[in-house]
Amino acid sequence: VAKHLGRNRFSYFTPVLQENAQKRMRLVNDLRDALASEQFRVYYQPIVELATGDIHKAEALIRWMHPRRGMVNPAEFIPLAEETGLIVEIGDWVLRQAMHQVKRLQASHHRGFQISVNKSPVQFHNDNPLKAAEWLSEMRQNGLQASSLVVEITEGVLLDDNGNVKDRLLASRDAGIQLAIDDFGTGYSSLAYLKKFDIDYLKIDQSFVNNLGTQSDDMALCEAIIVMAHKLGLKVIAEGVETEQQRDLLKRAGCDYAQGFLFSRAIPAEELEALLLQNRA
Ligand code: C2E
Ligand code: MG
Ligand code: MG
Ligand code: MG
Repeated sequence: VAKHLGRNRFSYFTPVLQENAQKRMRLVNDLRDALASEQFRVYYQPIVELATGDIHKAEALIRWMHPRRGMVNPAEFIPLAEETGLIVEIGDWVLRQAMHQVKRLQASHHRGFQISVNKSPVQFHNDNPLKAAEWLSEMRQNGLQASSLVVEITEGVLLDDNGNVKDRLLASRDAGIQLAIDDFGTGYSSLAYLKKFDIDYLKIDQSFVNNLGTQSDDMALCEAIIVMAHKLGLKVIAEGVETEQQRDLLKRAGCDYAQGFLFSRAIPAEELEALLLQNRA
């Protein structure tokens, strides 16, 4: 039947599109194998407290060491993982890695060390209702407090009409796991949600940080976000800080934390531990 319909209907299916589709399918297949073949790594990007220079937090960022293609960016495979639902398993794996890592860092470096983990809307959709409770009990068994982990979500999750998403977000929140709004300022910021979900951190998107010092509008935006967040009792983390000037302007504006290439890229766990030791000395 397909062959019969084929000719005319798919004449627009050019070799380029076909090649893309094949590439995509290969990537999906590779993605299915990647967890079992241990091709994923979790890297950690330090988050610096601006007032002191201390590092008591880090963000977990996944990396895929593809056997043929080398390191594949999350931007290339997270969307596919979301579409195929593989993100649920991958996300659990990242969370478990982060849990073990935060335990080590609390023992070796700082009792209050926190690791934040990104969680996509698809993961919330697929969570079973007891997920938060299950994680909490696994954390307890590992001697960890719920506040050892922070879940990063984008504004879109808060605006999701699906009741389940809200319930699961609140369940996670009620279990004591802290919440951060990632890429703040790029989505539809319904500020009412900041109160409703009792958010802990706002992460200023790097697009507002990039031009600090050259574009006065961006400075005004950052300042306004910081003032508003503080009035609501939230801490602010600036993303994508690459220059000393950006760091100084943010510090002067009262921003609490910063992460970016100025301090460090996302690095393997052992390198983070070395960097923390060096930072302490
Ligand atoms: P994100 O959560 O907003 O993470 C910040 C991204 O900015 C990271 O890219 C980080 O490497 C990059 N970055 C940090 N500092 C700088 C800087 O100074 N300059 C520039 N130009 N970039 C900087 P990465 O690791 O490629 O991750 C991209 C996105 O993929 C993340 O954005 C997040 O949305 C998603 N992602 C990463 N890991 C996971 C994961 O485990 N689960 C899920 N669901 N999403 C993930
Ligand atoms: Mg993030
Ligand atoms: Mg971000
Ligand atoms: Mg709070």
